[in-house]
Amino acid sequence: GKRIILAARPVGEPQSSDFRLEEFAVPTPGAGEVLLRTIWLSLDPYMRGRMSDGPSYAAPVPVGGVMEAGTVCEVAASNNPNFAKGDIVLSRAGWQTHAISDGKGLAKVDPKLGPISTSVGVLGMPGMTAYTGLLDIGKPQEGETVVVAGASGAVGSAVGQIAKIKGARAVGIAGGKDKCDYVVKELGFDACIDHRDPDLAAKLKDACPKGIDVYFENVGGAVFEAVFPQLNPFARVPVCGLIAHYNDTVVKPPKWASSLMRATLTKRLTFRGFIVSDFASRHGDFLRDMSSWVRDGKVKYKEFVTEGLESAPDAFMGLLKGANFGKQLVRVGPD
Ligand code: NDP
Repeated sequence: GKRIILAARPVGEPQSSDFRLEEFAVPTPGAGEVLLRTIWLSLDPYMRGRMSDGPSYAAPVPVGGVMEAGTVCEVAASNNPNFAKGDIVLSRAGWQTHAISDGKGLAKVDPKLGPISTSVGVLGMPGMTAYTGLLDIGKPQEGETVVVAGASGAVGSAVGQIAKIKGARAVGIAGGKDKCDYVVKELGFDACIDHRDPDLAAKLKDACPKGIDVYFENVGGAVFEAVFPQLNPFARVPVCGLIAHYNDTVVKPPKWASSLMRATLTKRLTFRGFIVSDFASRHGDFLRDMSSWVRDGKVKYKEFVTEGLESAPDAFMGLLKGANFGKQLVRVGPD
């Protein structure tokens, strides 16, 4: 087997030297255990947080430890009565071709719901993040305007499409013309703006003539600075991610905290951070709604696949800077 371990904690942007590929003898499962063979490895921005040992909502990967990840695996051998050889399971096997599990935390994937890769994408964690953050915190109403960045990505693409289903105006922000074209023409957003456009704030104003009622925050940085003055009274801001800041090496002093607080008061804004696991009780609703939307073509998704476990470090470094176009996956083994 092969695995990728955290070789060093990155300072700023992760480098190739922060990862190391190792080979290992594929283990034999003991009593009650299963051997997992990885088919799909999901790469997600939160992994940047796990590489650092600063304060966070989850423990870091130890230096020398296997990089963490959600995976879609086949049960290759089983000594556990709950799993049979050949079962497809959602697991957290990490960046490796094989892993042993005692069965805890494994969930069988229902291939009838869609291609098995979607269980780490639109029908999995990123889709559920979009669904709960938008519906439970953002609460878009018919005719309101919803803005989301990373609009061609795993979470953002679903956010805008769910906003449309709820009768809202959806405005995306994405990196570059190809992604913006896709977001409008394929996903059906009302508009999409390139965040590298020097006139971002003015273009956003044109795209949101009635102001912004829900800003689904994936990014922070310059995008937030353009959005913030355009928030309407009683706007809701689900704070989902701040990818523009994940490589920051110093915590910046609050530059305009006083104007942010003043607007929060006078405009009665709601900012609420969340981690998708906060909404675990909504999983049944999510799977029911999202799988039917996907089946009916109301929610489309795009996958961005790199081949082989060895491709994971480069693909991950690319994900942090927008090299991915859609949900970033690594094909580790055949179906
Ligand atoms: P994406 O598929 O959206 O990929 C990340 C994208 O971020 C890149 O493709 C790039 O898109 C964009 N990006 C990177 N840097 C910047 C920048 N400086 N300014 C603007 N855009 C940038 O990833 P996900 O959909 O998986 O994740 C989206 C966000 O959601 C992340 O912040 C992630 O951490 C967060 N998240 C939070 C969860 C939670 O429980 N709170 C769960 C899952 C995800 P582009 O080319 O368009 O710039």
